[in-house]
Amino acid sequence: MGIIVQKYGGTSVADIDHIRNVAKRITKTYDQGYNVVVVISAMAGVTDELIDMAMQVTDSPEKRELDVLLATGEQTTAALLAMTLKAMGYPAMSLLGHQAEVLTDCSFGNARILDIGAGRIKELVDERNIVVVAGFQGSDQNGNITTLGRGGSDTTAVAIAAVLKADSCEIYTDVDGIYTADPNICEKARKIDTISYDEMLNMASLGAKVLQIRSVGFAKMHDVPVHVRSSFSEEEGTMVMNVDCGMESLMVSAVTHEKDQARITLKKVHDQPGIAAKIFTPVSEAGIVVDMIVQNTSAEGFTDLTFTVPKESFKTALDIQRRVAEKIGAEDVLGDKNIAKVSVVGVGMRNHSGVASKMFTVLAQENINIMMISTSEIRISCIIEEKYTELAVRILHTAFGLDKE
Ligand code: ASP
Ligand code: MG
Repeated sequence: MGIIVQKYGGTSVADIDHIRNVAKRITKTYDQGYNVVVVISAMAGVTDELIDMAMQVTDSPEKRELDVLLATGEQTTAALLAMTLKAMGYPAMSLLGHQAEVLTDCSFGNARILDIGAGRIKELVDERNIVVVAGFQGSDQNGNITTLGRGGSDTTAVAIAAVLKADSCEIYTDVDGIYTADPNICEKARKIDTISYDEMLNMASLGAKVLQIRSVGFAKMHDVPVHVRSSFSEEEGTMVMNVDCGMESLMVSAVTHEKDQARITLKKVHDQPGIAAKIFTPVSEAGIVVDMIVQNTSAEGFTDLTFTVPKESFKTALDIQRRVAEKIGAEDVLGDKNIAKVSVVGVGMRNHSGVASKMFTVLAQENINIMMISTSEIRISCIIEEKYTELAVRILHTAFGLDKE
């Protein structure tokens, strides 16, 4: 008999009525003959409330205790859902992370799953129980409770599906799938039926709102097809799976945008070995993640170097670079917070040339200046002025044939 893993996010289990609705869905699948393992999140808003409470106690709550606290959100939902299922006459049992043998490393608040024993889950499933696992939590080698980072119950679900070799892993949320662009700014955005793991990983800004991106890496590694869909409708959502390129002839599958980066430029730095290390080492030592880097070709022994950092780290990074510039004798340091990154993503690019030139031409037609460019095998990203973000997304969406009829 096949196993289906179903994960329900916070908005799907927001209150008792919602939990009843979810229970009905679960029993429908169960009645079709499947074994069902359910992974649940905390009720909507609960994790935030728990963090708030901890912050009222102290500005920097001890991480181990914070995880003990946060894990209670999922514990509550797991128990309530199992009770609901039992009250409906179905055999069900809740399991906390450690009871489901979710073994993690010991980085509290952002732990990684090392292994899932799943012995107990299998036993229960073999006896035709519906097993309800508290997502987002596990325990380390010493039995301490750990949590997997915000949105982590997606990763729990994918990991359990991998271990159980489940037929499918359904992630139920409050949107009906992944879109070709953010529907809030591009009204012609369409729901995508099927998308590859790599595309999902490359469109973090669109995808991350729907799925914890770490869970996609996990799904790819273990080849678990993930069906992202809404718990509020019967419609099919988006399948995230191993798609061979060439199946669809689209060059581009989605247009994404991010407004959370800022740009820093060092003018006229000496073009010699060791300079880039001097510029970027203090940035990484400050824990700042650099996204794009562009170095101009040098003229007369000098070059300009530009890179982007998250907006919230902009001031720190700028201060660091002012000190670096003095040390290495750079002429000036410039910063710009009003930038955005627009990207086109698609496995189809592997087999098509001309995606980059088309993207640049389309932007040029609207007089949008490109400040930086970066490419990967299946993505092209441009940094542009922030005020053109919406326009850029819409015209690229149209130009690459993604608009819905
Ligand atoms: N409850 C956790 C959070 O809000 C985990 C999850 O929902 O996946 O981040
Ligand atoms: Mg979520």
